[in-house]
Amino acid sequence: MNSKQDLAEYWIRNGIITDRRILKAFQDIKREDFVPSEYKLHAYGDYPVPIPGGATISQPTTVLMMTQALEIKSGQRVLEVGTGSGYQAAILSKLVGSKGKVISTEVVKELEDYAKRNLQKAEIKNVKVVFTDGSRGYEKEAPYDRIIVTAACPSIPEPLVKQLKDDGILIAPVGSRSSQEMIKAKKIKGKLVTENLGDFMFVPLQGEFGFD
Ligand code: SAH
Repeated sequence: MNSKQDLAEYWIRNGIITDRRILKAFQDIKREDFVPSEYKLHAYGDYPVPIPGGATISQPTTVLMMTQALEIKSGQRVLEVGTGSGYQAAILSKLVGSKGKVISTEVVKELEDYAKRNLQKAEIKNVKVVFTDGSRGYEKEAPYDRIIVTAACPSIPEPLVKQLKDDGILIAPVGSRSSQEMIKAKKIKGKLVTENLGDFMFVPLQGEFGFD
């Protein structure tokens, strides 16, 4: 897959994409703005690509699948843990629209700067990147309608559950350092009701509720 169009056709042909609004968000964002220059030719390959700080920008189909699972509505407030390149945050920003807001946390300084530059290039204005330990969430902007964790968690960090609104949705890869299950959780009357969306592999979550 060498182009955005190839990827979109693959998603449509295989019934992977189910929502036109989400397809449009992917079409509006240039993934090449978020991968290092030496990987530009790989911007639309369906595989993860290395970014600074030993992290990776997730495979496009994984970003799509997590985005769909979040069931985002326009105007919502979303917390992301693990900004990385800023690509996932950019996609979310299109879905919440100008009345919504994405707060994205990153624990590696180099990546905070990298993501901010990428988001600026893409002219995204409703994403706030915060340099902090996102395993504790980000109390200052809470509560959130949606929370997405894009690093492997040993378990769902308790502060994130607290900072999620009732009826809110949280998605996180939960498991060991080497393999995780994608957990989709809905907060109903203060408690999480979970479902498992399959096996994945992410870089480990650091910080208080991470693997350190
Ligand atoms: N969503 C990103 C990919 C994330 S890779 C994208 O679209 O490109 C996982 C990221 O989580 C890495 O950048 C890593 O530095 C970050 N991370 C790990 N532990 C974290 C923590 N405790 N708080 C915030 N970010 C963290």
